Amino acid sequence: MEFAFVSGNPALDLAATVEARRDEPADLLGTPSDLERWVAACDGLPDEVTADTATFEAALALREALYRLALDRVLGTPFDRDCLAIVNAAAAGPVPAMELSDTGLRLSGDLRAALSQVARRGIAVLADPGARLKECGRAGCTRIYLDRSRGARRTWCGMDECGNRVKAAAYRARRRAAAPQSTVE
Ligand SMILES: [Zn+2]
Repeated sequence: MEFAFVSGNPALDLAATVEARRDEPADLLGTPSDLERWVAACDGLPDEVTADTATFEAALALREALYRLALDRVLGTPFDRDCLAIVNAAAAGPVPAMELSDTGLRLSGDLRAALSQVARRGIAVLADPGARLKECGRAGCTRIYLDRSRGARRTWCGMDECGNRVKAAAYRARRRAAAPQSTVE
């Protein structure tokens, strides 16, 4: 299973590891090893972390809190107090160590440090009044993303993930409408 990093912020990408939240929620982080793979795949986080049961549970709580706060932001409602407390507590922890060498940047730290970094990135985007947070326009996709496009015209969380699927479905619908007798699917 490949994770998608199309939200423009790791906190939003973490929140989106539950897909189709309103219809048929699918959790991509079913086990601690899924979380380890997610952290390794996410830019700006340490490549190798180990998740035990406690930090795994903490990560899922942080994820749900980040989603709720992002949704509050999209809806223009006040931030949920309990979720603020969870995200702020996570952000207060130590962050990954950063090291420069000829081979580039190396980040190291444990899962707690990785989660702290995700929480801080989430706070940065949620606190930014200029950040345009949107929910994906494909029905059923509940991913919230940061729209950095000129004029904020972006409609989908990602073209591969949703935009092309919607366009292909619209194309099939037009073809069916143009040939109502056809039995071709
Ligand atoms: Zn989408």
